[in-house]
Amino acid sequence: MTTQSGTTEVSQDPSRSEEREGFDEIHILWISEGMSCDGDTVSLTAAGQPSIEDVVLGLVPGLPKVNLYNKVLSPSLGGEDFLAPYRAAARGELAPFILVIEGSIPNQNIIEGEGYWTSFGNDPVTGEPHTLNWWIDQLAPKAWAIVAAGTCATYGGIHAMAGNPTGSMGLSDYLGWDFKTQGALPIVNVPGCPIQPENFMETLVWVLQHAAGAAPPPPLDHMLRPQWLFGKTVHEGCDRAAYYEQADFAKDYNAPKCQVKVGCWGPVVNCNVPKRGWMAGVGGCPNVGGICIGCTMPGFPDAFMPFMDEPPGGTLSSMLVKPYGSFVRRMRGITNAMVNHEAKWRHNKPELTSGYNPYWRPGHPHRTPTAAGTRGRKTT
Ligand code: SF4
Ligand code: SF4
Ligand code: SF4
Repeated sequence: MTTQSGTTEVSQDPSRSEEREGFDEIHILWISEGMSCDGDTVSLTAAGQPSIEDVVLGLVPGLPKVNLYNKVLSPSLGGEDFLAPYRAAARGELAPFILVIEGSIPNQNIIEGEGYWTSFGNDPVTGEPHTLNWWIDQLAPKAWAIVAAGTCATYGGIHAMAGNPTGSMGLSDYLGWDFKTQGALPIVNVPGCPIQPENFMETLVWVLQHAAGAAPPPPLDHMLRPQWLFGKTVHEGCDRAAYYEQADFAKDYNAPKCQVKVGCWGPVVNCNVPKRGWMAGVGGCPNVGGICIGCTMPGFPDAFMPFMDEPPGGTLSSMLVKPYGSFVRRMRGITNAMVNHEAKWRHNKPELTSGYNPYWRPGHPHRTPTAAGTRGRKTT
């Protein structure tokens, strides 16, 4: 159910209450065989708070033991050894597991019988490839939780842009936006092209804590994104926002000023990357000179193209802010010049010129005789 605040509340089905007691061990079956570049897995390896290694090695207190299966990170040589847990889960012999999908899902219906867009192992009987769609059909109904990693898996992303021949879509488009897992959770969407490493790990850790029975379900917004990560805009966290307020706009990509006129969509994009940085707090698109192209957004990429053109709304808002911004910038310049001086009493001359004037000195306006007739301080 989606509340007025945009938060998705996860219904607690009593028939699925076993997970509230918590799991000691859980599997993560990660599939990146869709329309994917594996960029999300590669990005994940940069996470440090916590790292995926910390989670897999059991170094994060309170989490279940995690068995991760990911083809890029796997020490296995591949083939049937690697596929074994996936096949077991498809047969219902491996549980509980979290299914992570990376990459968009092509529409297999449009070429049914005439080939396949994706493949992940072969059918042992027919020798024909198992498509990503087949794996999702087998695994999604059995998964305790499902996480979509990256904008391709969440909303379709690059492969789902206008004119594509594959009919690609995001996981929620494929399974349905009301889909619920065995753990009574909706699909958890972590968009980004690629995912910001800590955004993904923070979400995964929350899901794992929920699996351990130690945390409620993660709060999601109406697009099933973690609310605490995607509730603010790029602009609200950008370290160039003061330039915008002062109508000081960059005309090329070398300037350290606000980039709205050279194509930044930050004011209308939900993403925390400028605040969080990319790796170990460093980077963050507009902070370091890269315009925001809205890569976390459901409408990406079409709604933000052509990249590097000024967004239509940017023309209007920058025009409106110009009179105020120019005035404020000028006033601040004057004040800045004034406060860029040291006080005149800081010198090495023999007299004190700081205005020091203690009340007990004769002639001080607050000085008054005490009952003893010596000295004292006015009390009124
Ligand atoms: Fe690659 Fe970006 Fe798609 Fe992830 S979202 S698979 S990084 S294109
Ligand atoms: Fe906003 Fe982009 Fe300018 Fe940053 S660079 S202040 S996000 S418009
Ligand atoms: Fe994508 Fe913009 Fe966020 Fe950069 S700041 S990660 S381009 S949404």
